[in-house]
Amino acid sequence: MERSNGFADATATFEEASFVVVGVPFDRTTSFRPGARFGPDSIRQHSWNFESYDLETGIDLSEIPVHDLGNVGEFGFAKDMVAAVREEIRPIYDAGKIPIVLGGDHACSPPCVEAYPTGKSIGVLYLDAHMDFRSSYLGDDRSHACSSRRIVEKVGAQNVVVLGVRSVSKEEVDDNRSIGMPYITAHEVARDGIESSMRKALSLLKTDRIYVSLDIDAIDPAYAGGTGTPEPFGLTPRDVKYILGEVAPRLAGLDIMEVSPHYDTGNTSLLAARLAREAIVRAVASKRVR
Ligand code: MN
Ligand code: MN
Repeated sequence: MERSNGFADATATFEEASFVVVGVPFDRTTSFRPGARFGPDSIRQHSWNFESYDLETGIDLSEIPVHDLGNVGEFGFAKDMVAAVREEIRPIYDAGKIPIVLGGDHACSPPCVEAYPTGKSIGVLYLDAHMDFRSSYLGDDRSHACSSRRIVEKVGAQNVVVLGVRSVSKEEVDDNRSIGMPYITAHEVARDGIESSMRKALSLLKTDRIYVSLDIDAIDPAYAGGTGTPEPFGLTPRDVKYILGEVAPRLAGLDIMEVSPHYDTGNTSLLAARLAREAIVRAVASKRVR
């Protein structure tokens, strides 16, 4: 494990921690513009911007035991990254802790789900502008364009909901006709409201625990332009804040992927850091974890 300047208020040891931050500085499968490898450390840096006290819950983040494991190494091939991330994340679940994984491109998410203990079921709420449902992309079945597909293969289509999608290929939609992964588009969220959309998502996810994978491009580029594949007509930061609050009692893990700081004023990293802190505070407030 390589050390980096840690996530704010992550002062607990691994043993003490309820939450464990891990960085995956990998962006080799990025298809449009690279740079998400710089995401983990940029999100950490920006996490120091915030007060540790949370106004809404009265919880002070400095009192929540969070550990920052640092970054996994760097890899040339996605398959090597996948193996290393599984190894890194598995002990976190085994110890009953919640991983908070900072990417990296979205290829880094499937191994975080695949590391979940075999025999225990898990649901996945997949927040993304894209469906990421290609069987293979540019010859790589571990491309970030294939991540929801790999997750469906692990947990089953009935245990995944994609929310915020607004960019797909025809083949992805055609493929999914027989597979049946549920999705709620960003346009439906805009029409029906986030409360109603989340009610629908949570009614579809029947497992006790839910893993949230946040591709930052789920959020509109007006708020989160520092990303590899920005797509207009997205969710608002407040939508995602609400989502994290609703999932909190069932949170199994969270990743925040595709933050690419060089296309950014700092706002995207700030938002990612704030959402990670929101997830932690809300999970504690929900009394699921201390
Ligand atoms: Mn994605
Ligand atoms: Mn995306």
